[in-house]
Amino acid sequence: MSAEDPRSQAIQYLRTEKAFGVTEISKIVPKASAGKAEALNALYEEFKGCQLCALGKTRTKLVFGAGSPEAALMFVGEAPGFEEDKQGLPFVGAAGQLLTKIIVAMKLDRDKVYIVNCLKCRPPENRSPLPIELATCDPILRRQIQIIRPKIICALGKFAAQAVLNTQEPISRLRGRFFEMDGTRVMPTFHPAYLLRNPDDKKLVWNDMKMIMKELGG
Ligand code: URA
Repeated sequence: MSAEDPRSQAIQYLRTEKAFGVTEISKIVPKASAGKAEALNALYEEFKGCQLCALGKTRTKLVFGAGSPEAALMFVGEAPGFEEDKQGLPFVGAAGQLLTKIIVAMKLDRDKVYIVNCLKCRPPENRSPLPIELATCDPILRRQIQIIRPKIICALGKFAAQAVLNTQEPISRLRGRFFEMDGTRVMPTFHPAYLLRNPDDKKLVWNDMKMIMKELGG
């Protein structure tokens, strides 16, 4: 069975669930928690030494996420890069600087939103995440979403949009509209790293951000 095989991905997903102590599929439900910060902390403590996939061996620091546990808006990116791996924080490299500018342009504070990635560990040489890695990390991302319960998730780029929405649709077809997901509205948009290479598409992303701002304001 290859790592590309859906069965391998399902097995890997369930391995992560098992690490949460889940022994029956019916138990894969959000746990009511006393406080969001405490619940996030507990999740981090559980996974800070994660070795559930091969990236555990090559990472410098696991990049769990950053921001306010009470955030109404959550950004989901792809995977840590060089800087993120070094610092243990999401979106602190060049793409991160652009994301910060976008957040400021939205009249929001970076500390008041929550920023995560689909993968918590850097893929070597910043290669794209493998399906098996996405499947392994997915239960952690799902729990972060379940704990924070943001009003809106902005999924940055193909990998985040496809992972959050559990679809294979291309980002060009997904971006620019809201999707409903268990009481959260999901807005897929282009990844800041893509915008650094394709600055002409910044206006499309800005349109998406305006839709988010309107929704948050309402
Ligand atoms: N930095 C991150 O933390 N995530 C990305 O997706 C890209 C850069």
